[in-house]
Amino acid sequence: MFYRGRRLRKNPVIRQLTRETQLSPLDFVYPIFVAEGENLCQPIPSMPGVFRWSVDRLGEVLARMEKAGVKACLLFGIPDHKDEIGSAAWDENGVVQRAMAQIRRLSPEMYIIGDVCMCEYTSHGHCGILDETGYVKNDETLGYLCRIAVSYARAGVDMVAPSDMMDGHIQAIRSALDEAGFVNTAILGYSAKFASGFYGPFRDAADSAPAFGDRKAYQMDPANGREALREIEADIQEGADMVMVKPAMPYLDILKAGSEAYNIPFAAYQVSGEYSMLKKAIEEGLLPPTVVEESLIALKRAGARWLITYFALEVGEALKNR
Ligand SMILES: [Zn+2]
Repeated sequence: MFYRGRRLRKNPVIRQLTRETQLSPLDFVYPIFVAEGENLCQPIPSMPGVFRWSVDRLGEVLARMEKAGVKACLLFGIPDHKDEIGSAAWDENGVVQRAMAQIRRLSPEMYIIGDVCMCEYTSHGHCGILDETGYVKNDETLGYLCRIAVSYARAGVDMVAPSDMMDGHIQAIRSALDEAGFVNTAILGYSAKFASGFYGPFRDAADSAPAFGDRKAYQMDPANGREALREIEADIQEGADMVMVKPAMPYLDILKAGSEAYNIPFAAYQVSGEYSMLKKAIEEGLLPPTVVEESLIALKRAGARWLITYFALEVGEALKNR
């Protein structure tokens, strides 16, 4: 006798009944780029189908999210003003703070996550405060990150997501939020964030490419899986409510090992390069559109509970209508 696996693949009904992993619009978090200005819905050439929005037009994004059944968003701000210390990042009237308040008004049930970092706001494009040699100073940067996180909490954010990769940032932000009275504002750590080439299109979108050098002195070496687990563990110990692996598809082993080792929900960020690679290949006819769901289900199968993806709207809508 031999194993006849094909019995349970015979038709769509039995395949659906035995499917181990299901995608739902409720798995998705939709990243939104919010820029200064009015009446903006500006296409991002390196990310077909993704736009920079002005605050006054966010209602259109929320309508599309509702149509797709997606109930969580991750906000990135694109300010007009940049300086050495990224002061626009914690301005209570800053673009991302106004976007948070606007979304809270228009869609009270929307789960709003705010990316906490400095690279979109600093003139040098690095994720923290620099010393005279161009090295990002860890402990000096923490205070600025705390100011950003508290300003988001005041604007009505549900969860802050520090993406800077500074040591001790989760603990610092947790204390700052608690002291300001925001004990219920959650923290999602970008715990295992790799110094990846897959971020290229995002840097066009957010205008956040470093003016010199790279981010290898704070983001992780793509070769290191065991170290990723140590970063995840540190963020959990410092008080993270959720942890993230970024990018997603090249790091499925980290999602798998991490989600088995730690009892905390994992998020996977399918980054701009992963998105644009698939999008362009589909547009060129090199790959069928089914690769999009295949790429997302891989993340969930590997252990991610949340999928942060630029495909959230189109896949959410397809799933809803199925
Ligand atoms: Zn950054």
